[in-house]
Amino acid sequence: MKKEKINEISARFTALSKNEALARIIITGFLMPYSPSVEEIADIKTAVSEAVTNAVVHAYKGREAGAVYLRAYITSAGEFCVSVIDKGCGIEDVEKAMEPLFTTDAENERSGMGFSIMQTFSDKFRVVSRVGSGTRVTMTRRLESFKSE
Ligand code: ATP
Ligand code: MG
Repeated sequence: MKKEKINEISARFTALSKNEALARIIITGFLMPYSPSVEEIADIKTAVSEAVTNAVVHAYKGREAGAVYLRAYITSAGEFCVSVIDKGCGIEDVEKAMEPLFTTDAENERSGMGFSIMQTFSDKFRVVSRVGSGTRVTMTRRLESFKSE
């Protein structure tokens, strides 16, 4: 099956917790025309929310909130792909950060489950990060209920 992009979106917002809901709304609005199931929408919103929360909480810790970039596209085969990108501090050891229950922020009652949740709700999941440059989290999910019109 051909898999060309049929639609895409890009947004840039400040890394503030008040923008977490905005990110969920943008993603929901983008997906709605493709008839996602309630479960698909719930899963994707949760995953995106975890990624954006990480950018808000961790990426610019101890300094002025920078930018978060939300990019998404969908293919003619119903493959939905979303990236959450920050230009913050980066992650020293991505493999370790992705372990369930690993957190550098236990004092604020973080549970270290964000990456595990994102992984659970994605078909493909990738984190690329460089200390001092930032982090890009990319999640792909095939929409079973996909309808292009
Ligand atoms: P929870 O998501 O359960 O509230 P958490 O955010 O600590 O807790 P994860 O989302 O799994 O857990 O992230 C694990 C760790 O990876 C974080 O504690 C943080 O050290 C690091 N991390 C995650 N995302 C970023 C990011 N965008 N920039 C810098 N560090 C990050
Ligand atoms: Mg998290």
